[in-house]
Amino acid sequence: MENIIEEIKKAIEKRELCAYYQPQYDAMTDRLVSAEALVRWVKDSGKIVPPMDFIPQLEETDAITMVDWYMAEEVCKTLKELGEKAIPIAVNFSRWHVKEDDFSEHLTGLLEKYEVPSDLFEVEITESALVAEESAILPWIRNVRGVKIRVAIDDFGSGLSSLQFIKDMPIDILKIDRSLLSSNCQAEKERIVLESIFYFANRLKLDTIAEGVETKEQLGFLRTCDCKKIQGYLFAKPMPREAFVELCRSSNQAKKESQDILEIQTPAHAMQLLMDAVFQKYPMIIYINLTRNTYYMMAYDDYTTKSCPATGDFEELVRGGAATMAPEDREEFAMTFSRQNLLNEYHSGAKTVQLVTWQMGDDGIYRRCETTDVFVKSPSSDDVLVISLCRAIE
Ligand code: C2E
Ligand code: MG
Ligand code: MG
Repeated sequence: MENIIEEIKKAIEKRELCAYYQPQYDAMTDRLVSAEALVRWVKDSGKIVPPMDFIPQLEETDAITMVDWYMAEEVCKTLKELGEKAIPIAVNFSRWHVKEDDFSEHLTGLLEKYEVPSDLFEVEITESALVAEESAILPWIRNVRGVKIRVAIDDFGSGLSSLQFIKDMPIDILKIDRSLLSSNCQAEKERIVLESIFYFANRLKLDTIAEGVETKEQLGFLRTCDCKKIQGYLFAKPMPREAFVELCRSSNQAKKESQDILEIQTPAHAMQLLMDAVFQKYPMIIYINLTRNTYYMMAYDDYTTKSCPATGDFEELVRGGAATMAPEDREEFAMTFSRQNLLNEYHSGAKTVQLVTWQMGDDGIYRRCETTDVFVKSPSSDDVLVISLCRAIE
């Protein structure tokens, strides 16, 4: 153990440790958009030692942190050299950094030294570190993001972290581990798992990168999942600094990701557009099963929803809703949208039920609000379903 630490110290002094760069591409436009720095030990003899041959050993103690900081500095130098042509570069930080109280200050110090804007530097931390460092990790991530540096969770899907855990982490980027991708992504279960991961990441507004993409089949499938970026041998292997600098200088980088539906033809994206369109008009939408007295509510934070849970008992929701109406509207609201009245309306052939009321928002202000309940027929059950569209009409 002592040995390897001493050897690495010497390697750093002799500048035998090198940052290689693996480009990351926009999944839809194939454009170069960012990169990851990966360490290589290039020995005198010309032999290149891959990280797997020394990183795991170094990671047993905090000796690994000297490699990571060395890499961070190398990346800053490269970003400075690239100037106008710079693209964001991610650096791997081992879990030992979570114990460094001055991590963010150290990092900002480096960025200032090389005059690198913070949006060009990304911090990668592996999923296993999240689990290992549990309570310390949340404030640590907050600190890093506090100095405007984006945080990526590496190797997602390879370890033990639960979706619950990821949900609570204020991260920016999810890197999906290559172990989740088979060579052609044809197995139905595999597709379902991946689709679900991207669906949930996109809904949480996380940037997504698929790692280790090697085949066209994988790429094709990832596009249908609306995966945002691709890193893998299909596009490029990790390359030495000079080759990477050359690539950045010669490439036609996309400054802004395209949102054009005609260019980005994925089912997930089309659905997102549709949802956004509906949400722009209706900040709150409630799905109701009248037969089973249940509901599920989707709402923008600024709409009047704080008083009700996102899902639950529909009759309770109507009672809660009525309480937020102006006193003169309460009774009519409770009556119109009572479960019994809606069922009666449905059975007498009504297609919609609509009411305009004065309703108090979460900010304590009354607004004219329109609630439109639309009856829908489920293709798979006889339950009576309603989609309730709510908006302020001032
Ligand atoms: P990682 O951070 O998950 O990096 C991705 C690894 O996948 C890299 O391996 C990369 O070369 C490899 N890879 C990329 N595309 C493909 C592909 O299409 N097919 C296959 N089969 N592999 C692909 P690499 O460079 O050997 O690094 C291995 C790991 O070592 C990294 O995994 C990271 O956890 C660690 N590592 C590398 N550099 C550093 C560093 O500076 N600091 C720390 N703490 N860890 C590092
Ligand atoms: Mg990584
Ligand atoms: Mg990884």
